[in-house]
Amino acid sequence: MDLQKLIRDIPDFPKKGIIFKDITTLLKNPAGLNDAAEQILALVKDLGITKVAGIESRGFILGGLLAARLQAGFIPIRKPKKLPAPVYSESYDLEYGTDTIEMHKDAITAGDIVLLHDDLLATGGTAKAACNIIEKAGGKIVHISFIIELAFLHGKDKLQGYEISSLIKYDGE
Ligand code: AMP
Repeated sequence: MDLQKLIRDIPDFPKKGIIFKDITTLLKNPAGLNDAAEQILALVKDLGITKVAGIESRGFILGGLLAARLQAGFIPIRKPKKLPAPVYSESYDLEYGTDTIEMHKDAITAGDIVLLHDDLLATGGTAKAACNIIEKAGGKIVHISFIIELAFLHGKDKLQGYEISSLIKYDGE
């Protein structure tokens, strides 16, 4: 199934110059949603995954679905001040300024084998910060899955040493 056909481009969202890759058009398509999940599961099903960590907010959707299918637990990695219990925080650089993500300190148990999932890999800053926070908590990341990779932004360079997959790659805008 050609999943790329199910992605909608929204120019100048959330700000001018950005082409937003809208996955809601894939998610609402029953065959598309199932196919995306099955493709990722085929890659990770034998890795012994005990936890799936999803990055707020679009990483929660397929992340939760994958966790259920893998019979693993799900961990939300969230924007600041959303999680109620004690957290680990990790800040990372954006083009202008910095951003921060958080995860509950007790989300990971020693020895957890983790799949990290997000909807889209752009510069890789968000995923790298998520890796740092998971590892700080004692998790071992065995795979990072994305639905979409904007390959021209070279986010993989920040994620060297990790096994990475993406279902749809864009080589240019
Ligand atoms: P980055 O840290 O640069 O790899 O950015 C990845 C995060 O930003 C992901 O959580 C994406 O949801 C979001 N993101 C970045 N660029 C886009 C885009 N063009 N369309 C949709 N989401 C994006």
